[in-house]
Amino acid sequence: MYKSTKFIFITGGVLSSLGKGLSAASIGALMECRGLTVTLLKMDPYINVDPGTMNPFQHGEVFVTDDGAETDLDLGHYERFTHAVLRQKNNFTTGQIYDSVIQKERRGEYLGATVQVIPHVTDEIKDKIRSLGNGVDVAIVEVGGTVGDIESLPFLEAIRQLRADLGPQNVLYIHLTLLPFVKASGEVKTKPTQHSVKALREVGIQPDILICRTEKSISRDIKEKIALFCNVRPEEVIANEDVECIYEVPLKFHEEGLDQKIVELLNVWTRAPQLDEWRAFVESVHSLNQIVTIGIVGKYVNLHESYKSLNEALFAGGVANEAKVRLKFIDSERIENSGPGNEFDDVDGILVPGGFGSRGIEGKIRAVQYARENKIPYFGICLGMQMAVVEFARNVCNLARANSTEFDPNTPYPVIHLMQTQRSITDKGGTMRLGAYECVIPVDSLCHEIYGRTSISERHRHRYEFNNDFKQTLEDGGLVAGGVSPDGQLVELIEYKNHSWFVGCQFHPEFKSRPMDPHPLFSSFIRACLEYKKLRPGNEDGECTSKARH
Ligand code: GLN
Repeated sequence: MYKSTKFIFITGGVLSSLGKGLSAASIGALMECRGLTVTLLKMDPYINVDPGTMNPFQHGEVFVTDDGAETDLDLGHYERFTHAVLRQKNNFTTGQIYDSVIQKERRGEYLGATVQVIPHVTDEIKDKIRSLGNGVDVAIVEVGGTVGDIESLPFLEAIRQLRADLGPQNVLYIHLTLLPFVKASGEVKTKPTQHSVKALREVGIQPDILICRTEKSISRDIKEKIALFCNVRPEEVIANEDVECIYEVPLKFHEEGLDQKIVELLNVWTRAPQLDEWRAFVESVHSLNQIVTIGIVGKYVNLHESYKSLNEALFAGGVANEAKVRLKFIDSERIENSGPGNEFDDVDGILVPGGFGSRGIEGKIRAVQYARENKIPYFGICLGMQMAVVEFARNVCNLARANSTEFDPNTPYPVIHLMQTQRSITDKGGTMRLGAYECVIPVDSLCHEIYGRTSISERHRHRYEFNNDFKQTLEDGGLVAGGVSPDGQLVELIEYKNHSWFVGCQFHPEFKSRPMDPHPLFSSFIRACLEYKKLRPGNEDGECTSKARH
């Protein structure tokens, strides 16, 4: 049944954050360019059942799929680089595996056997991997963590067994490592790679292809040395040199011959890769000739990983307008304590992204107020929309101390509140409105102008909602619904017309933005910011200082 699907397993060695997710996504893109269908899977070794309750400081963004799965941020890369539609089954953790094994044991499904890591846990992992392959040409499976970690051993054992189960021509192992450059000797070092491959071979996996991250280009000699010590051929050593823009990675891999090698080893016949679209996109990224600065007011400002999809969506919105987006992360607590000061003097737009918890909340409200009063384009996403509603209620509609009941349960004006169905839930995992919901947009709205349609579907991840008891009051003040749920009960979009651009959405549009198919809200926001920039006092085109790898 699964015969036709080829499996590519990607492991990582030496250290974490080498870009395994990006490599997996780029391989997916290359396979699609050859006309193959792909799916991707991330297996995470931690014990949390999903990353939904994990601190974004530690784990980065939680990516949400259409079917409401809270997943690892690598799934965001997968969706942005390929056309694969990812779902709950495309990301699982050790916690989920053990959860189902224990449930089966309780139901007596193991018929009295002693339940063990091998074969019960590994079988569970293998079943999940195999069920993923059904129907697609290539399934790319990324093993989270680093080879040598205790936690990832059952995953490695499962993928080792799969080569025997599925046949050697249907399974490929790709290992990602680092070639550190030692300044003192001016040399690229191969020893960590050798050790990492050794660790992999100790668990029975001989990698077929090595992808080597490096800041310097590497010579044929180095490839030959790695090949000799790691038991591969020199052409199976792929250099993965640092790039300015992550969307160059598929093209670089192609130049190194990676996709050709993969299809050869897996014995798949494909058309020649069609990379024109990628090339054109990368070229347009390199020729961006304007800069627009967006102030992002949030809590997780120290870690760009927490806003991964948001950054990518802004970037794509910028490319659509031929502009480079400079992100200025502004700590909401600073605004809360010392006011806006001149923090916003050099920004062309203000964005308050999603968030949880009360820290820095008043700072976010002040940022909205600043944007509204100074007619700076404002984009509020999820919590950012909720805070726009609070700000508007307090300062335009004179509802003093209006708030979300998340932050002030005793507020006299609960303009954002919990829906009845949410009130009785105490369990933190899986209690939110999650995943894709339809939204209806009135024809005469700014949102309709932006989307160009009356029905959209967007992804949600939140507990609190707009309180309809205050809808009329807010509308009388000028803040109107730009989109509602089909039954009219949930306000999904708000807009304020008497402004340069002021939109809030209860959902997360960043999850649906693609580099080559940017999300209309982001392109429209960036366009408005560019317009605003022309008029902004003290506007000077400066250097782009964004640290994001673009
Ligand atoms: N904390 C808010 C809620 O739960 C907003 C969540 C978000 O921004 N994702 O509704």
